[in-house]
Amino acid sequence: MTTLKTKQVKFVYHNEDLSELESYFSENHIFPIEKYRLLYDRLISEKVLAPDNVISPLELSLDDLAIVHDKAYIKKLKIRSQFQKRFFWMGKENPISKENIRLQSIICDGSYKAAQLALAHRVGIHLGGGFHHAKKDSASGFCIFNDVSFAAKKLLLENIVSQVMVIDCDVHQGDGTAKIFEGDDSVYTFSIHQQDNFPHLKERSDCDVGLFSNEIVTDKLYLESLKFLSYLVNTKKPNIIFYIAGADPFIGDRLGGFKLSKEGLLARDKFVFKVSGKTPVVLVLGGGYSEDVSDVVDIHFNTVKEAVSHYKNGGLLSFLKI
Ligand SMILES: [Zn+2]
Repeated sequence: MTTLKTKQVKFVYHNEDLSELESYFSENHIFPIEKYRLLYDRLISEKVLAPDNVISPLELSLDDLAIVHDKAYIKKLKIRSQFQKRFFWMGKENPISKENIRLQSIICDGSYKAAQLALAHRVGIHLGGGFHHAKKDSASGFCIFNDVSFAAKKLLLENIVSQVMVIDCDVHQGDGTAKIFEGDDSVYTFSIHQQDNFPHLKERSDCDVGLFSNEIVTDKLYLESLKFLSYLVNTKKPNIIFYIAGADPFIGDRLGGFKLSKEGLLARDKFVFKVSGKTPVVLVLGGGYSEDVSDVVDIHFNTVKEAVSHYKNGGLLSFLKI
């Protein structure tokens, strides 16, 4: 059995006290906010990652986020965050509270820090992120800020990279990311998702693979539909890839209509890491809403473990070369 060299794999995880948010998100809310803590604990207890290697992201100011989000939207959030009262966006699913704004700004920094790790070590693991529905001027789904777009935009503005690819494998279309980078040749957006699902009004990614739930989307059909990625990565030749490894294509997910197994999702992860070749990959989690939170944690755990295993040698070699 292979022993993972956990000492060499740094990763990003917020050590925030989420109790205030957990109290809101618990019981009646479908978003399993506790998954972050459960995933971290399991990765540490099974020695996939070591606690000494954690990098903690920081809270960003709302002005920092203006590289992606409109000033008018930022201003609106600033005003709302002054109040103790919770506001909601599009129904009661997304609390625009001081705590949630703070957490999601930390998540943006987390994806940026994971991108820095990826550029240094071939892979950057963020135990969070994938808030892909947030647009320039609005919150949507559970997303206030678009962390992957923020990280990509920051790297581009700093001239660290010139070509970015986003591979979005959440069951929901990455509409926020698609819209933010519409007409921007420096970011190529790919999304494979359930067509007959939220968001009902789809945006245009550079490449969309929309599958209908009545096609009975099993492991086989999904993995076949993903094959085109290999061609895209080879022709677009991005400097960095952001991979949103959603757990919600899993069979029985309460917000998804696909029928993938845990093995199928792991095969998906392996395929994405393989076709990424030598391109640095930033791994973020995305959604997951199974009835039993342990299924969501299992899927994310498998993804992270596979990333560690896949990149441990290449990551170390690339680090030593620098
Ligand atoms: Zn989703």
